[in-house]
Amino acid sequence: MIYADNAATTKVSEAALAAMLPCLTQVYGNPSSLYAFGQSAKEQLEDARARIARCLHADPKEITFTSGGSEADNQALRTAAALGAKKGKKHIISTAFEHHAILHTLDALKKEGFEITLLDVHENGLITAQQVAEAIRPDTALVTVMFANNEIGTVQPIAEIGAVCREKGVLFHTDAVQAAGHLPIDVQAMQIDMLSLSGHKFHGPKGTGVLYARKGIRLENLIYGGAQERNKRAGTENLPAIAGMAAALEESVAHLSETTEKLIRQRDRLIRGLSEIPHSTLNGDAVHRLPSNVNFCFEAIEGESLLLLLDDKGICASSGSACTSGSLDPSHVLLAIGRPHEVAHGSLRLSLGEDITDDEIDYLIASVKDVVTYLRNMSPVWRSLNEGKQPFVLP
Ligand SMILES: *Cc1c(COP(=O)(O)O)cnc(C)c1O
Repeated sequence: MIYADNAATTKVSEAALAAMLPCLTQVYGNPSSLYAFGQSAKEQLEDARARIARCLHADPKEITFTSGGSEADNQALRTAAALGAKKGKKHIISTAFEHHAILHTLDALKKEGFEITLLDVHENGLITAQQVAEAIRPDTALVTVMFANNEIGTVQPIAEIGAVCREKGVLFHTDAVQAAGHLPIDVQAMQIDMLSLSGHKFHGPKGTGVLYARKGIRLENLIYGGAQERNKRAGTENLPAIAGMAAALEESVAHLSETTEKLIRQRDRLIRGLSEIPHSTLNGDAVHRLPSNVNFCFEAIEGESLLLLLDDKGICASSGSACTSGSLDPSHVLLAIGRPHEVAHGSLRLSLGEDITDDEIDYLIASVKDVVTYLRNMSPVWRSLNEGKQPFVLP
């Protein structure tokens, strides 16, 4: 099997597992208990916090553990909304192609009286700091722009956006779930006020994440109860998962430059191979993209059928076609970059793991070529395109 869906989730690394096991069976005390056994769990918790902080160039006090990226996103937006509302600022700027953890929270805030500006994303899957600067108003409470897109992998000019927001005195949050462990992150140099990450996207376990919030930002609770996480996130800390996440992040960051170099080479080999398929196109900028992400649209192809036939060949991949979720709408990300509906349905995302081999890249290329040819040969749409009865959308 070739697992090429690492943007959806990743395998827990050996280092993460090794860090988790003792917390499950040996240091299993409650970090809030006062006896020494509980306090050793507390020490492990604070050690994980310090190590994660170091990876982000943050202070440990700025790190809050959550149940994952979705919760961190929700808490960041709720925090900014509450702070803004106190000052009568009820305008939030974001982009049209954020993760649903952001977009659906913004929908909820809109119902509560916030005004939301979603910036248009260019056809290359990027926005500019200029767009952000132009959208900021005196009543803007927050700018939230994702670091890297989970579908098309494009990487936004985060430091430039951070500089604009800092200069204008507006809070800046970034959903860095796809970036953490995969791209260098420095919250100070990039002038990021809040940042979300998730353990399972970089070989940590599922169900654990981090909200970084710059010193002085008073977090809004989503969950009330005990005094954990400085009173800002109640519930007994998931120490095994947190320790695993810290180990996974440290390991990823330590090997970042080698894995980046290797993956970019393999990604570009895959892109070159798939570009040979006629009437196909790469989604998202070829340079400003995650080293692991390849996303294509193929004309006259249904994403669902593509995935099923690739599954038969032992390939785990993903598509922007949303039929699985019971909706006929294709991916909001592909629509945001201007792909027409019929083309957006025929998309394929391959997100590579660090251990992928060149042979596997070649197998991916050959398999996708086979499957696309097979499906097109059966497709009435493909026939009418070829007979000139309707024009091709993709060159
Ligand atoms: C996966 C993902 C999330 C959600 O993270 P969970 O830990 O699964 O809740 C949020 N944003 C982006 C960009 C993601 O890729």
